[in-house]
Amino acid sequence: MANGPRLALIAHDQKKDDLVAFAVKHADFLSACDLVATGTTGQRVADASGLAVRRLKSGPLGGDQQIGALIAEARIDAVIFLVDPLTPLPHDVDVKALMRLAIVYDIPLALNLATAEIVLGHFVAGLREGE
Ligand code: PGA
Repeated sequence: MANGPRLALIAHDQKKDDLVAFAVKHADFLSACDLVATGTTGQRVADASGLAVRRLKSGPLGGDQQIGALIAEARIDAVIFLVDPLTPLPHDVDVKALMRLAIVYDIPLALNLATAEIVLGHFVAGLREGE
């Protein structure tokens, strides 16, 4: 990785287009980050943006929990998790567990695009200060 933060990216199906657009928009900065993502999200982001993304399992197959484990191991600086609030999900308990760990370890957790922009802006500013 370069000198950017370690970011975890997750988007539920109805929000994947939004996350892909976010990643493309911020590709310059994200290329300096260490990116990890759940399986399908990571594939979509990598295909659209050309960014290097380490892909874990798909969310419903344990990917959310893998990201939770990375948080517990202090290997993630922030999570961008675009949640679909309108669709019941089979892995809702995993989603809750991930959110809980982000709270326990006090990791920035963006659940919508507006917050994702703020979180990324925070890191962009921090990187500039460190230059
Ligand atoms: P996916 O998982 O990126 O593999 O679709 C995300 C999720 O539904 O938690």
